Amino acid sequence: SIPPDTFENHPALWADDLPLLNQHSNKYSRGHALVWGGWPTTGAARMAALSAARVGAGLTTVAVDMSQSYLALSVYAATLTSIMVKPIHRHQDLAILLEDKRITGLLIGPGAGIGPDTQARVLTMLKSGQTTVLDADALTSFQHKPSDLFDAITGPCVLTPHEGEFTRLFKDVVDSSGHDKLSRARAAAKASGAIVILKGNDTVIAAPDGRAIINTNAPSTLATAGSGDLLAGIVLGLLTQGMEPFHAAAAAVWLHGAAANNFGPGLIAEDLPYRLPAVFKQLA
Ligand code: AMP
Ligand code: MG
Repeated sequence: SIPPDTFENHPALWADDLPLLNQHSNKYSRGHALVWGGWPTTGAARMAALSAARVGAGLTTVAVDMSQSYLALSVYAATLTSIMVKPIHRHQDLAILLEDKRITGLLIGPGAGIGPDTQARVLTMLKSGQTTVLDADALTSFQHKPSDLFDAITGPCVLTPHEGEFTRLFKDVVDSSGHDKLSRARAAAKASGAIVILKGNDTVIAAPDGRAIINTNAPSTLATAGSGDLLAGIVLGLLTQGMEPFHAAAAAVWLHGAAANNFGPGLIAEDLPYRLPAVFKQLA
C-alpha cells in the first residue's frame, strides 16, 4: 500500500504537463536531445536515442566516441536514420558541442563504459548547465567518489539507477536509510540534488524536496536487456521538450510500463519504441 505522503503514479499527476504540439511547432521548437554514444556497446545508446525521438524530441543527436575506434561512427550512422551523429575525437569536441544552446537535454550512461573518461564527460555535461539524465555507467563511474558527482549537480538532473547501481553510488544512503525503498530513494534525491528514479518492479520516483511517486503499471516482461536504456531515453525526450523534471520522470516511467503492457512473453527492448505512439493515443 502507498504511504499517505506519497502518490501512486497516474497520468492525472502529470498529463497536463506533457509537451504539446501545435500547428506552429517545428523540429527546433520541440527541442534537441543529445545522447552519448559509447563504444563497443552501441545498442544501448541507439535505443535510448530512438526513445527520445519517439516521445517527441524534435531533433536527436548521438555524440559518437571516436577515441577508441573509427568504426564507431559507421555503426551509429549505418543503423540510425532519423537520428543524427556527431563524431567526438577529443574531450574538447564535447565541450564545444555543448556550447550549442539549441541542445536542450543530455543523456550519458547506456553503453558509456565505467571509468575516468566517462567521469570527465559527465562533469563536462553537468557544467554546461543543460538538463541531464545520468544512467548506468555514468552512475557507476562515480562509485568511489560520489561526492564528486553530487557536488557537480547544480541544475536539473535525473538519475536512473537500478538496485545494483543505486547500492554502488549511494552506499551512505543504504547504510543510513536501511531497506525501505521509498526512504532510500528520497534520501538519495536529497543527497544528490537530483530527481532519482530507483527502478525495479515498483519503481520509485523521488525529488530532493521530498516529493515521491511509486509506479505500479510495469509488467515483469520489462526485465530484459536494454529496457532501462529505453527508459533513460524516454526521460531525456520529455526533458528535452521542457517538461518539469519530476513530472517528466514520473511520466517516463508510466509510459515505459504502458508500452510494455499486454505485450506478453517474448518482449525485447527493441519492441518498445514502436508501442509508444499507441500509448500516447490512449492518453489523449
Ligand atoms: P535496467 O536494469 O537498467 O535494464 O532497467 C530495467 C527496467 O525494467 C527498469 O525500468 C525497471 O523498472 C524495469 N523492470 C525490471 N524488472 C522488472 C519487473 N520485474 N517488473 C517490472 N518492471 C521491471
Ligand atoms: Mg540499465
